[in-house]
Amino acid sequence: METKNLGPWQIECDPELTRSLYAANAVESTTPCTCSACRNFRALGSGAFPPSARAMLLDLGIDPAVPAEIYENGPNQAGSLSCAGFFHFVGRVLIDDREAIATSEAGVRYFIRRDSELVPQAFANHPVLQFEFEVLLPWVLPEALLQ
Ligand SMILES: [Zn+2]
Repeated sequence: METKNLGPWQIECDPELTRSLYAANAVESTTPCTCSACRNFRALGSGAFPPSARAMLLDLGIDPAVPAEIYENGPNQAGSLSCAGFFHFVGRVLIDDREAIATSEAGVRYFIRRDSELVPQAFANHPVLQFEFEVLLPWVLPEALLQ
């Protein structure tokens, strides 16, 4: 386990183990979700998150391409789509500022949760944290973004 500071949180995590679990889960995962928010997210590829936020996810061992959950909070006036979701990673919280709702990295709002949902089977038997995020994504699908 290594210690990291993420905004107001100090955590212990195991990026190498997390990376191997993402690789294992890719093998066992089922058909990807076909809703428009998920298809738009996948179409953005490595451009879905700004470089520094993407680097933070990779540093935790998370594969930024495969959130456990993603949902949309609706379009903004500029035609971008507000999306939120979460990833799992192996770790424990050491210091938790309970007053903190979220903090941001390059415009991506995020927070670390001890309670986790929809945990992939590959993560069973490990201490799991949930990295929740909210990001404004450009709409790149050919179909119209419903206002
Ligand atoms: Zn979806």
